[in-house]
Amino acid sequence: AKESGRNGYRFYRQEMQQQVTERALLEKALHSAVSNDELYLVYQPQVNENGLLIGFEVLLRWSNDELGLVPPDRFIPIAEEMGMIEEIGYWVMDTACRQLTVWQEKGLPLSFRGIAINISPYQFAKDSFVDTVKEVIDNTHVDPSLLDFEITEGMLVENIASVAEKMWLLKEQQVRFSIDDFGTGYSSLRYLQHFPIDQLKIDQSFVRDLSSDPNSHVIINTIVSMAAHMNLSVLAEGVESYAEKGILEAIGCARFQGYYFSKPVKSDLATQYLSHSTLF
Ligand code: C2E
Ligand code: CA
Ligand code: CA
Ligand code: CA
Repeated sequence: AKESGRNGYRFYRQEMQQQVTERALLEKALHSAVSNDELYLVYQPQVNENGLLIGFEVLLRWSNDELGLVPPDRFIPIAEEMGMIEEIGYWVMDTACRQLTVWQEKGLPLSFRGIAINISPYQFAKDSFVDTVKEVIDNTHVDPSLLDFEITEGMLVENIASVAEKMWLLKEQQVRFSIDDFGTGYSSLRYLQHFPIDQLKIDQSFVRDLSSDPNSHVIINTIVSMAAHMNLSVLAEGVESYAEKGILEAIGCARFQGYYFSKPVKSDLATQYLSHSTLF
């Protein structure tokens, strides 16, 4: 038992060491990811109940020669800790807006409402955030009413006054806001009334459990009916099957996103979706 304990300890130490090394590698590589052109964007369709394309969520990808494709859940928290998320977030917004202007010039389908961009709480908290957004809008000539910023519930409970002020300033620019992963955080709808919010995105964990867990059904039902009272749209994320779409529709949800319709795709396929009036 002593032996295995010692081996266990050594194994643990090796594993720790490996994690530290991997983290150091990630940090080093992340420093030059933007300048080395290692970042790119993918676009996931958002559709309405008739299967028409209403938007794309913009999702970040990082492909590094040594590390391979690093998932955003892995590197974004590190970028946030390193103070690099502002630079990366700027790159995302600028690149996505340039793509959107290209699509705008080709003519967008009537059903299309715009692109959704994930905003890190660290990025949003910067005093310069509002000016940065205006700068991107000016530089890219994007139609700001086609922008939907996805923020998280947690951001709304701290510094309510300054968060609300920034949101209202951006709202004046016609930008829209969605609450991402709704239902996983603070779940009180009361604070929502302080902010100019347009849409709630029901977290995929509720959708995943929809057919097996009656609680998820109740939660989604509650979110949908309260959103209706508050005049907010609701979009369900992580929809993976026809059955899930059907249940959500019966509850009253009219916007969807998930693998059932399409995985996130590169810009050329997204362009095809737009120009062929694809039905999902
Ligand atoms: P999120 O904002 O909740 O994005 C949804 C995630 O669910 C995406 O993962 C998407 O690919 C995945 N997804 C979409 N449909 C389905 C489905 O039907 N089933 C399942 N199982 N998954 C689905 P992804 O692209 O790996 O992004 C993970 C997270 O990384 C995002 O979660 C978001 O929090 C963050 N992220 C991604 N891009 C950005 C970005 O540009 N900026 C910031 N700040 N965060 C980002
Ligand atoms: Ca999101
Ligand atoms: Ca989400
Ligand atoms: Ca998420």
